[in-house]
Amino acid sequence: MENTEKDRFPCPFPGCASAYTRKTRLREHLIKQQVVHDENHLAQAPEWQTEAVQVLLQTFTRPGNLTQDQRNARKKSSAQRCWNENRETYVENQRVKRDTVRELLDLTSQLKFMIMENTQVMSLLKGDTNGRPALKALYSQPPSINDWLPIHQNGINGALALDNTTFPRFVTYYLRPEVWPVFDIAFYDIEEDEDPPYLIKCLPGKPLFQRICFITHPDKCDKDMRNGSQALLTEAWKIWERVLRKNSSWKNTRIFDRNNWETWRELSPDHAEIVDLYWAWMSVVTEAQKQLMPSKVRLWDIERAFKAEDAGIDNHSQGEEEENSMDLEELMNRLRELNIPGPRKRKGQK
Ligand SMILES: [Zn+2]
Repeated sequence: MENTEKDRFPCPFPGCASAYTRKTRLREHLIKQQVVHDENHLAQAPEWQTEAVQVLLQTFTRPGNLTQDQRNARKKSSAQRCWNENRETYVENQRVKRDTVRELLDLTSQLKFMIMENTQVMSLLKGDTNGRPALKALYSQPPSINDWLPIHQNGINGALALDNTTFPRFVTYYLRPEVWPVFDIAFYDIEEDEDPPYLIKCLPGKPLFQRICFITHPDKCDKDMRNGSQALLTEAWKIWERVLRKNSSWKNTRIFDRNNWETWRELSPDHAEIVDLYWAWMSVVTEAQKQLMPSKVRLWDIERAFKAEDAGIDNHSQGEEEENSMDLEELMNRLRELNIPGPRKRKGQK
């Protein structure tokens, strides 16, 4: 064991003892923690906001994020002050919350074979959990398509906000997680798995584009559909299609791994473009997964459930969903018994 060599890139989180010989390894470690957030890398930890960590994670940030980050800078510094004052309480609350959420996730994961209709998702989300609506217990706020897939209105005709993350955002907003082709090279062990998937299977492609068209196309006349969504989708897909079609050998190419993706990327401009698509896709997936608590629903469903609740619409009278109602009822009973943590209180904690 060569400790000095190993310690060249220590993890900046104080509770974490990990250290790496290569910077990319440290980055992979942090990316993984962005998703799993163990007790040494809590989502609220101020280390996430340090310049060192931000620079390490840079490849995973959309260019468009920077101005948003700057706008949030003030908010973050006050969050950091609060964190310093209440660290102990947070850690304990996080532990309790994590246990409850784990139980909740376990229950909601049982819904995966039952949820067939949006109306069922909605009626579940509108149910009561420990005196609070399940929806509000699971989500502090609704997702917003205008944040997730913005259509900028700053041009004369309303310029579209487009980059290589736009198409992934359509996939994660409109399609269920089961059909997302997620393959995270950070978790892929090249020593154990000698049969990596084809690169093309790790990226959203034309079939998913077509599926989304069925939802967003103006002819489908979904009254929820935002004006211009189909145009945005078409333009967003062009960016992806151009790269996917450019090199016919992608069909027979295996996915790169966490050790060689950087050198692989430098092989040619085509390689660079497709690696960038992969990271654009994975960064959007990571962001979306954070928002999906019953991980089987779509962002679209959640946002619509919020709207339905605000409008006071009651789906119960429609009576179509009776076949599964026993199971749903039993699940709802178990959900009700759970002591769901309330919204975080940032002030006045002792
Ligand atoms: Zn660490």
